[in-house]
Amino acid sequence: MRVKVNVKGIVQGVGFRPFVYRIAVSHGLNGYVRNLGDAGVDILLEGTADAVDGFLRDLQAKKPPQARIHEVTKTPLSGENEYAAFTIIRSSEALEHSGSVIPPDSAICSDCLRELRDPADPRFDYFFITCVNCGPRFTIIKRLPYDRENTTMHEFPLCGFCQREYEDPLNRRFHAQTVACPACGPKAYLTTKNGEPVEAADPVREAGHLLSEGNVVAVKGYGGFHIAASAVREAPLARLRLSKHRRAKPFALMAQSLAAIQEFAEVNSKEQELLTSPARPIVLLNKSPSYSLSELIAPDLHNVGVMLPYSAMHYMLFDRVADAAFVMTSANPASQPIVKDNAEAIRTLGGTVDYFLFHNRQIAYRCDDSVTRVHGSRNAFLRRSRGYAPAPVMLKGKAKRCVVGLGGELNNVSCVLNGEKAFLSQHIGDVENLETRRFLQDATAHLIRLTNSHVDAVACDLHPKFTTTHLARELAQQNGWRLVQVQHHHAHVAALMAEHNVDEIVGVACDGYGYGADGGAWGGEVLLCSRGIEGFRRLGHLESQPLLGGDVATRYPLRIAAGILSKKMDVAPWLLENAQRLPHGETEAELILSQLQKPQNIPQTTSLGRVLDAAAAVLGICYERTYEGEAAMKLESAAFHGKDALRMEPVIRGDELDTAQLLLSIYDSRGVVSLADLAYSVHAYLARGLAVLAAEKAAESGVGAVGFTGGSAVNAILAQLMRDAVEARGLRFLVHETVPSGDGGVAFGQAFVGGFLDS
Ligand SMILES: [Zn+2]
Ligand SMILES: [Zn+2]
Ligand SMILES: [Zn+2]
Repeated sequence: MRVKVNVKGIVQGVGFRPFVYRIAVSHGLNGYVRNLGDAGVDILLEGTADAVDGFLRDLQAKKPPQARIHEVTKTPLSGENEYAAFTIIRSSEALEHSGSVIPPDSAICSDCLRELRDPADPRFDYFFITCVNCGPRFTIIKRLPYDRENTTMHEFPLCGFCQREYEDPLNRRFHAQTVACPACGPKAYLTTKNGEPVEAADPVREAGHLLSEGNVVAVKGYGGFHIAASAVREAPLARLRLSKHRRAKPFALMAQSLAAIQEFAEVNSKEQELLTSPARPIVLLNKSPSYSLSELIAPDLHNVGVMLPYSAMHYMLFDRVADAAFVMTSANPASQPIVKDNAEAIRTLGGTVDYFLFHNRQIAYRCDDSVTRVHGSRNAFLRRSRGYAPAPVMLKGKAKRCVVGLGGELNNVSCVLNGEKAFLSQHIGDVENLETRRFLQDATAHLIRLTNSHVDAVACDLHPKFTTTHLARELAQQNGWRLVQVQHHHAHVAALMAEHNVDEIVGVACDGYGYGADGGAWGGEVLLCSRGIEGFRRLGHLESQPLLGGDVATRYPLRIAAGILSKKMDVAPWLLENAQRLPHGETEAELILSQLQKPQNIPQTTSLGRVLDAAAAVLGICYERTYEGEAAMKLESAAFHGKDALRMEPVIRGDELDTAQLLLSIYDSRGVVSLADLAYSVHAYLARGLAVLAAEKAAESGVGAVGFTGGSAVNAILAQLMRDAVEARGLRFLVHETVPSGDGGVAFGQAFVGGFLDS
């Protein structure tokens, strides 16, 4: 018989054609396999019906580790057999199907690591050793189909040795597009901060040595540059901290090995699984009692972000040093995307670093590291990017239309919803300037092309002034796409519904800010959601609190604390006593006090983030927010060893959870109850209060599930206490595990709302 087989999924760049070749030959089939321009694979088989059946069984059962098969279609063909053998033939540019995609970057595999260490191997000590199962993919592919000439490896013609491996069906580099060796592949080299070459026989290990000695080195990785430094020396870290947007923001670490991590942080089995997975995300780990790395890495936090090496280059950095870990933080100049090109690196990072560890292979698409943490045994993404993007999140049911979601303003990610697959882009960042807007546009267009998606709607936030809203309007107009605006917290809850395949939920959506359906500043919301654009109702929220000075209050949480406390007490003595905590001292304190006399002029917010900020200021934990979430993160760290000493009963008035009384109780208990217990009590009150409010609303509406979403849901204490309270009431409690709960999940929620609209 003759059959045509089409395979959709992640089937290019994962060794799929060599695999198909092997199983076809093993079943005595003739014909061909080829890549298509739509990221799918096309197979023609000639042979007996039994052989074809055996082939199709093996196709599913024995597929390569990184491959994902979403759909296999089999079409019988008429006519005589034409082929005398089975071959891998030239790829086709054809765009026949939609919804396949290329794989994410994958960490070096154990086979390549073994060869890297084997003096007899031709790729011994080669920093860019990869194979059909590992190496960069998403960041290396310029266009489809996945062939070497369409990647940034096209500049490196294969030598005789690599060519022979590439053509040998029995070799594990058979048709591996990233195959390279020291003779023909990319080269690493070291330069000064001005780009002048530094002579080094072994530039990678020399860079490791320089780091260990206290130098700051920019290291070019798969998806962009890292800035690396010693994790035990104060001087280089203090120097890095001088740059304005890095005053206190935690740095991530790259550790030499799992054993090295265990010297300074605690690792449970789920965390170990994530750390060693091919995605190699940064995992937030609790510092252990024996933590002895610099306090400048994650100041005042109980946890620290750690990843393991994911390329041969990373492993080699540690070869000749005793350091357990190096600081390894994304190199992005303030509000800019991560740096990916060599000339750009010298221009933008030259003032920060002492040396560059370059290589001469271009990065096609930038991709920041992923960041995650574990709640109990659950994965809770802070950022889903390298190692995960662009692999789709699978839904239980096909969307009615193909929608691109553009997300919100901060921590942005875009999303293409195509059928039952949601393709989330890599981390884009804060879309506040031309560079990030361009990055968002390019990354989204690339994702649409890669997946051969025929978009017919674009979804965005309700905020009239967001860059992403403007961009969505433009795209809608240019392409004739339908425009769907989705309220921010509705999108958060919709993302949760999509992830868990529920039709109705009472969602608690908490974060710093989202534009409300009434134009107000929302951020502590209890929403009843069902599918569709009209599918949400605001059933409850946190008490509205004054935001003295608008955005300035977000930066200086003492202002929020003063605003909230002023409802319950005379704040003048306390505020004046702490005036030196404000940038303009007493003058500013007095101005705040006079503004409090005219409460009708002060903008209001229901944000949970702002309440946590205020509590952090009352407790003296944080007076200035120098990075997003700083006060809330420090409050969680302060609460880490605390208990619910105050045991406050939630005060719920109608649809509103009181927060002013909470702040007053905290204020009054300072010095009497420990800081850790007070910090914990704040979490306990808010989590229990929101859980009670949501559970009451769920009971009234006859809904069986309550969920927790929004940026605040990465807080492990809030999530656990809310779970306890909700489950104690016999309800299901849902949280995010495959997409970020923060604004990196908003585009996914928006696309889901748009994709299931009826008309
Ligand atoms: Zn490998
Ligand atoms: Zn070679
Ligand atoms: Zn949000």
